[in-house]
Amino acid sequence: MDQSDPVPGLFHLSMGAPFLFLCPNTGLRVQATDNGDEPVSQKGTRYLAVECLACRGFHFVDPATGKLMSDSNKK
Ligand SMILES: [Zn+2]
Repeated sequence: MDQSDPVPGLFHLSMGAPFLFLCPNTGLRVQATDNGDEPVSQKGTRYLAVECLACRGFHFVDPATGKLMSDSNKK
């Protein structure tokens, strides 16, 4: 009946899930999107190469935890 209203609550979840990570160069929290790029596996963890909006560089981030690959290496 109502042709003008689109169905609410319908989102394309497969398009990419946004997540936050901490940029090691600027210390800022940066939002990135898991757009389905092929992740890099390392010891059961999947890292995504994301372009950082804060420092314009690339970081390897685990979209599930927001942790950087370099974080797990040190300490
Ligand atoms: Zn950065």
